[in-house]
Amino acid sequence: MNSITPARLRVAPSPTGDPHVGTAYMSLFNLAYARKTGGAFILRIEDTDQARYVAGSEAQIFSTLSWLGLDWDEGPDVGGPFGPYRQSERLDTYKPFVDQLIEEGHAYYCWCTPERLKAMRAEQEASKQSVTGYDRLCYGKTREERAKLPGFSETPVVRMLVPDDVELSFTDLIRGEVRAPRPDDQVILKADGFPTYHLAVVVDDHLMGITHVVRGEEWISSTPKHILLYRWLGWEAPSWCHMPLLRNPDHSKISKRKNPAARLLWFQEEGYLPQALRNFLQLMGYPPASDDEEVSSLDDFVANFDWAKVNTVGPVFDIKKLDWLNGWYIRSLPSDELADRILDYIETYQRDDVPSAARSTSPAVSQDPILTPQARDIIRAATPLIAPRLTLLKEALPKLDFLLGDVEVDAQARAKVEADIPAVMEATVAVLEALEDFTAQTIHEGLEARLVEELGLKKKTAFAPIRVAITGVLVSPPLFESMEILGREECLRRLRALA
Ligand code: GLU
Repeated sequence: MNSITPARLRVAPSPTGDPHVGTAYMSLFNLAYARKTGGAFILRIEDTDQARYVAGSEAQIFSTLSWLGLDWDEGPDVGGPFGPYRQSERLDTYKPFVDQLIEEGHAYYCWCTPERLKAMRAEQEASKQSVTGYDRLCYGKTREERAKLPGFSETPVVRMLVPDDVELSFTDLIRGEVRAPRPDDQVILKADGFPTYHLAVVVDDHLMGITHVVRGEEWISSTPKHILLYRWLGWEAPSWCHMPLLRNPDHSKISKRKNPAARLLWFQEEGYLPQALRNFLQLMGYPPASDDEEVSSLDDFVANFDWAKVNTVGPVFDIKKLDWLNGWYIRSLPSDELADRILDYIETYQRDDVPSAARSTSPAVSQDPILTPQARDIIRAATPLIAPRLTLLKEALPKLDFLLGDVEVDAQARAKVEADIPAVMEATVAVLEALEDFTAQTIHEGLEARLVEELGLKKKTAFAPIRVAITGVLVSPPLFESMEILGREECLRRLRALA
């Protein structure tokens, strides 16, 4: 049963590199529940880890999520009543809570140097101690007392004093009762004065009125610490939902190092449509609306959304399924819209591959269109010819470049042609020269009448050399439609060149 109380959910990516596909996955499920309950979906940037901060990453998070149509109601760029939505702009917010936790005996200063902590860990490992984690050397000591001991650092961190009876299980909306391992005395304030994720996430989720924390299952082990912080600060904890991790076909966790598809930008670079990726992510660990209906809109997903349907067995990222969906969405676009997508794709990713005849002579600025207006018209006209067999936008230019510049006849294709090439070319030229209207239909009818009916050639034998002359290859977009787009003069030129 879904609650009808408007829920507030957030996605909280860290700008540590180009965005991970998991960020889109989490955004989708957070957004679905927010919309389903008439609540709000918030984008918060968790940039407290200065060492891992990557400039430009935040802008990529905004642009990829917008591209997917996963729009947020509150966030650093759109504002909202609970801002700022970037943690680095909220540092003053966290400090009083740290002070409160110290005063109330729930947290303590720790002056141990990284070297001392490393040595401590090595010793714990060597002696195979069952209890590991921080040994509380600093706990209960004043600065002066601690300074007398080795491994002292001038600037302390602040740690949680995790009690022995810390609650280790919690209720997860997807998984039911979940048990997590006993946490260490987690650092909540770093030596540089920045809070760690654990403190910042709890403070912000509370102050931003987050009702449901939906995140990847890698955070399950952190949840007992978060629950402690809620309790100590006297706040009501949100509902927890830990989504399954996306997996490679070999079931390993999807990672940028192993799988290019872990990068959201990869899907743009390859020429996937955002609708296809969004639909694909809807099917990750979540059943299709019905067995034979995997295609579904975001609105349908939202309308039928239910946490109970999430399957916690790591969903496998099957690119073949995504390709199929992409083809489906490509074919469902009106031709003009598909042409816009193809043109944008070429201008963004394939500028260097555009044949020289189709290039603007001197694009003044690198952002100016590289394609000439004529080339754009040709691509627009030819889009319906290639749409039925297109899987990715990146395939369009290679399929169409014979229309944009000179063809280079593939020697193997030419060698496979069985017909008497000069004879067929001569007859074809004569037919085309005599045509009144130069359309796919008149070309087809004229050539069939002459080559097949009068000269008695088999269709395949008759048309193969024409295809080779016009397109350079034996497999191409529809021939007569392509000839109409090329125009009579250019067709004649190519036919004569092959003869
Ligand atoms: N900043 C965390 C991340 O990058 C967010 C985890 C959470 O949603 O609590 O994954």
